Amino acid sequence: MPTTNDQRPTTLLTIRIGYGWDSHEFKPGIPLLIGGVQLPYDKGLGGHSDGDVLLHALTDALLGSIAAPDIGSLFPPSDPQWKGADSAVFLKEALRRVHAAGYQIVNVDSSLILAAPKIGPHTATIRARVAELLGIPPDCVGIKAKTPEGMGTDNAAIAHSVILLEKKAGKKKNNARPAGKSKKKSARRKR
Ligand code: MG
Repeated sequence: MPTTNDQRPTTLLTIRIGYGWDSHEFKPGIPLLIGGVQLPYDKGLGGHSDGDVLLHALTDALLGSIAAPDIGSLFPPSDPQWKGADSAVFLKEALRRVHAAGYQIVNVDSSLILAAPKIGPHTATIRARVAELLGIPPDCVGIKAKTPEGMGTDNAAIAHSVILLEKKAGKKKNNARPAGKSKKKSARRKR
């Protein structure tokens, strides 16, 4: 696993957001993997790893949310150990870092932009797999698909992902305030 240790210290903000983007070109004769699911199609997405454009966007969104190094820094294409790698490995490392930084995922949302194949029939399967990989319920995983009208990117698949984190609940501390203070607060609220 990567040992890059240049993650910036995360101040324990209550919430954080992350954003990731990726694109891969279609190539004939290789499996098409999107969101960890193999879809029936005569072309797949080229790349050094398995080319899973959605898992790469989600990985960068997770890493960005905690100001960690990006996917290309942690898993460089120049490193032969990532050739043909299952992109779930990248996502799991990003998730491990998020948890280690003291956060958990609230929800994620993604848009896929590709001319073909149609994603609609597979959306539920992809949502379920991404939810499983991230350890969150499927109703916290948004997957939308659009065609690239006027963009000239018909031989590519593009993914955008955003993610919301919240601080994990810590051990309960004795946060009792002096009675006077809480009285003041409630008195203020009544005004
Ligand atoms: Mg990629």
